[in-house]
Amino acid sequence: MPGNCVVLLSGGLDSTTCLALAIQEHGYEPKNITALSLYYGQKHAVEVTAAENIAGYYQVNFKSLELFKDIFKSDQSSLTGSEPMPNLTYKEIAENEGVSPTYVPFRNANLLSTATALAMGLEAEVVYFGAHAEDARGWAYPDCTPEFIGAMANAIYVGTYHQVRLATPLEWMMKKDIVFIGDHLHVPFELTHSCYEGMRPACGKCPTCIERLEAFAVCELMDPLPYVDDVNESYMLRR
Ligand SMILES: [Zn+2]
Repeated sequence: MPGNCVVLLSGGLDSTTCLALAIQEHGYEPKNITALSLYYGQKHAVEVTAAENIAGYYQVNFKSLELFKDIFKSDQSSLTGSEPMPNLTYKEIAENEGVSPTYVPFRNANLLSTATALAMGLEAEVVYFGAHAEDARGWAYPDCTPEFIGAMANAIYVGTYHQVRLATPLEWMMKKDIVFIGDHLHVPFELTHSCYEGMRPACGKCPTCIERLEAFAVCELMDPLPYVDDVNESYMLRR
């Protein structure tokens, strides 16, 4: 029987599917799962509310913490600074040379370190992290790559007296694969948040909204999230 685990839950589609996998595929009891939501100064703090609602839906323990906001709250990333959100798709970000505008300096290492420290206190054996192949493609986000994940998995395992392991069940999946699996697991997609503009109903125009809508359309599913002008319906009709 699995013991306790910690799931990093941003409130997005990926981490919510990761939580569903922990429950439904790996057999963790909701009462033994702690969903951890970290606020690091991101502009779309609506994520944290979404994470709390999702944790409530699954009846798992929920913890939200503020993480070194002073470090991350910088103009180095358009996720946290005053720069406007870029209008770039995943593909364009992956094809661009250099640092992605929405990369937050070494963020995922900090999220994983915090989750691991919490896991040790809770006597949890696994930290779940929903990084996926689309974020890693072309080194768009270096802290989502298999190389980074392998290094962090080693650091976590060694640095916790072999108590905690890192699990990344979405590591080799693209967005459409995550939607497909999430649908199979009855993930409450309507509770998740993706829009980079932080809008609810979602804007349907920013890169993350578009990537999400296209992933649902490829799976021949309608995204149940409310969108401005019901664009989710027209995405389905277009196919
Ligand atoms: Zn949007």
